[in-house]
Amino acid sequence: MKSPLVLDKNLAKLILGWCQNKFGKSKFDARTPKIRLYKATKDDYGMYTSQTCSISLYNGSIQQADNPLEEFVNTIIHEYFHYLQPIDQCYDALTTYFGGYNNNPLEKQANEAAKQYVPEVLVYLISQLG
Ligand SMILES: [Zn+2]
Repeated sequence: MKSPLVLDKNLAKLILGWCQNKFGKSKFDARTPKIRLYKATKDDYGMYTSQTCSISLYNGSIQQADNPLEEFVNTIIHEYFHYLQPIDQCYDALTTYFGGYNNNPLEKQANEAAKQYVPEVLVYLISQLG
């Protein structure tokens, strides 16, 4: 089935709003994350920058995924979890302790949350826009 949804900033903001409703604000940052949508292709689909409290999305890479809509949603949930986590306090120490990015429990938590909630967000998006 072809996706009727366009992967643009409005869609990103709708997904961000869903995350805010579902998970609330970060205990470690009183700000609300901003979305930065780039056309660029990167090694990653997205990134969370704690200094600026922003979620960057690399749409060039996302568009090349097997299911771009799913990957778009997955990436926003993943990065939103980084916003919820004590990134500044312990991300680097955990990466060192567990021997790499992929073993960092904060990454595992973000991956698991994204995987768990993608279907619910897709249903929400279709109900809003479909
Ligand atoms: Zn991550």
